[in-house]
Amino acid sequence: MTPGPIDSHCHLQSLPPEERERSLDAARERGVRGFLVPAIRLEEAEDILALCHRHPDVWCALGVHPHEASTWKPGDRERLAGLLADPRAVAVGECGLDFHYGFSPRDSQFRAVREQWELALELGLPVVVHNRDSNDEMLELVRDPAFDGLAADFHSFAGGLEMARELIGRGFYLGLSGMITFPKAGNVREVIPLLPADRALVETDTPYLAPIPYRGKPNRPAYVVEVTRRLAEETGVTIEEVARQTGENFFRLFPKAAA
Ligand SMILES: [Zn+2]
Repeated sequence: MTPGPIDSHCHLQSLPPEERERSLDAARERGVRGFLVPAIRLEEAEDILALCHRHPDVWCALGVHPHEASTWKPGDRERLAGLLADPRAVAVGECGLDFHYGFSPRDSQFRAVREQWELALELGLPVVVHNRDSNDEMLELVRDPAFDGLAADFHSFAGGLEMARELIGRGFYLGLSGMITFPKAGNVREVIPLLPADRALVETDTPYLAPIPYRGKPNRPAYVVEVTRRLAEETGVTIEEVARQTGENFFRLFPKAAA
């Protein structure tokens, strides 16, 4: 059997404990061979790490989501650095900017994302980036020479062609979610032809954004198969090839997961 896809972004921590185990098993039954769980808050880190230590196919990103950026305080950088020493923590995140909801003031979002990116560079870890309605500010950040050499997954990418072009040009990876299956999401799918095969990741963003035919229901890691299938259709290769290639990309971007 060829190796199945890896769900590079699923918030298993937001599910009740029994449902986490159930949804991991359901995904494995469909051939899903790995899971990356990104933190939203630092308070979740112990819980997420415990989950990773119970399952050899589960890894995590630790950090603070832009919605929670106002909680980022002096000392958190050192606290996060300590947590990232865990062998199962393979990235910093998810972190970034979100001006859509504005749950945290912009200045605190900038402070939190900059400090987390600085820490990632210092520790030699990649970042998992959330970006919504903040393309211009995000581009300013990635163009800042202070962040030269940063490795990143722009998860559930929906930033449009121009943004995609620049991010790809800078060597970043784009995470494709269930949005690529939505009939009206032509603006999300249009980046697929310009995304090199070796820069694509697949994800569910569980529990959000369930792909067709599960749209409107709670999302689960098993549905990364639907995302992988759609990417295969769009690129004219087999689903097995997309699973293989995106898996290879995953371990290249997150080398701690391959150790
Ligand atoms: Zn997320």
